[in-house]
Amino acid sequence: MTDSRPLASVSLDVDNLWSYMKTHGDPGWEQRPSYYDMFFSTVLPVLDSLGIRITFFIVGCDAAVPAHAQYLQAAIAAGHEVGNHSFEHEPWLDHYAPDRVAREIANAEEAIFSACGQRTIGFRGPGYSWSPALFEVLVDRGYLYDASTLPTYLGPLARAYYFWTAHLTPEQRQERARLFGGARDGLRPVRPYRWALPSGRTLLEIPVTTIPIIKTPFHLSYLLYLSRISEAAMVAYLRTALAICKATGTEPSFLLHPLDLVGGDQAPALRFFPGMDITGARKIALFTRVIRVLGEHFSIVNMSTHARAITARGALATRPVGPAQPIGLASSTRPAPATAGEPRA
Ligand SMILES: [Zn+2]
Repeated sequence: MTDSRPLASVSLDVDNLWSYMKTHGDPGWEQRPSYYDMFFSTVLPVLDSLGIRITFFIVGCDAAVPAHAQYLQAAIAAGHEVGNHSFEHEPWLDHYAPDRVAREIANAEEAIFSACGQRTIGFRGPGYSWSPALFEVLVDRGYLYDASTLPTYLGPLARAYYFWTAHLTPEQRQERARLFGGARDGLRPVRPYRWALPSGRTLLEIPVTTIPIIKTPFHLSYLLYLSRISEAAMVAYLRTALAICKATGTEPSFLLHPLDLVGGDQAPALRFFPGMDITGARKIALFTRVIRVLGEHFSIVNMSTHARAITARGALATRPVGPAQPIGLASSTRPAPATAGEPRA
């Protein structure tokens, strides 16, 4: 490997048709309708043509469906890796009791391992949910990193839009009250750091990268939204984001979702979702453009390669797990205070 450029990790949360319907309160999700076949047969050739290898965060109960195993195996055979995206994909997982969190993580890991033979070493929470108990389970199980935080002030705005179209009872709204996080999540760091857990142990956190300093997201869902203004506006915003990343020494961790690559023409049940009026073919063209721009400045890798490189460099800042606190851009390394706390209090 002679590529000495900074790294950018790319990951894709494989949220299935049913999981969007479930979070949105749509009837019929219990039958777990799936678009795995359509999705993986679309995305794997695109990634191959771009020459990139990424991390697919897989929902355990999808991995447990025998008909899905072939798609996970195909992803592994193509050089991609799998991560753990919980078993039931419930964004209120941060309310689970510790024993339930432990089962959730273990069951997903086992289902994914049974389906494709690869052991997951990274986790991303559904809807950016996490808890100290969850992090303790990840460390217990030898995970290399967590990637569940989205440091932005815009979470409540995204949630308001989601609720606007959703069919939810007051109880369900209460359950989803922290969906996409609170405004204080904007206080969390953009660059990787280590969580200091109540047990005294630490865990590497690789946040979904938002634009340093201003903390607005630039993952593909947001870029697609900008593409409605114009493709040039989308690319200009991306280039600005990447320039600020480079200027602040931030290696991006770039997030994808299936609906970034699938159009309303391919998943009519999800027409309510933002951006689903864009065709699948157009989304693939925009995605290709975005990855090429990212690849001009950064060496694109999967999450575990990124995590290992970060770990090997050492000297990471450590932060107590708990409510977000104001930070300086370049927070310094300091000893890990073993303070318990509730996230997103
Ligand atoms: Zn998800």
